[in-house]
Amino acid sequence: MILEQPSFWLRWLFPRALWRMNKEEHTVYLTFDDGPIPEATPFILETLRAYDAHATFFMVGDNVRKYPDLFRRVVEEGHQVGNHTFNHLGGLKHLTSTYIENTEKANKLIGARFFRPPHGIMTPAEYHFLRKKYQIVMWDLVTRDYSNRLTAEDVVENVRRYTRNGSIITFHDSLKSIDKLHTALPASLQWLREQGYAFGLF
Ligand SMILES: [Zn+2]
Repeated sequence: MILEQPSFWLRWLFPRALWRMNKEEHTVYLTFDDGPIPEATPFILETLRAYDAHATFFMVGDNVRKYPDLFRRVVEEGHQVGNHTFNHLGGLKHLTSTYIENTEKANKLIGARFFRPPHGIMTPAEYHFLRKKYQIVMWDLVTRDYSNRLTAEDVVENVRRYTRNGSIITFHDSLKSIDKLHTALPASLQWLREQGYAFGLF
């Protein structure tokens, strides 16, 4: 089970992926997965703007197809985009060729140089193929904002407990997370700022 911090074996499986940036720098790297969707992404953009923060959005291609204006808005507001496949495919459940084709289909719309596998897992074959074209980005901390067992306070507590220099922090712009993020995202950004962290881009 993958909890807030990735296990050693997962890091070992994808050694060339980004897990944590420079630990000498007091900087964190905010990421948002699974959007863009109108129910969540605009709120996140407004909150990031209020804290003068930028982030990387790992987008589902089919959402970009449905909401192209939202995609453009994310880019125009100075954020980075990453590929998260067209249909949020689980890498272990599909043929390598299917997975790669689905990712390429998404990139016709997204045009990203970053890739994050849905559920944080893919096969070694998928990894070796995709890392030739993309910088694979994993994370140092998953807030688990999608979990219906956690409250907004729990999400903030995960940020407070596990953030360290160079952390890549994962949130979601999704229906499962947005109710919590309405309070947890501003509270997290406020705390990060009070701790003196800068918000970096890859
Ligand atoms: Zn995802």
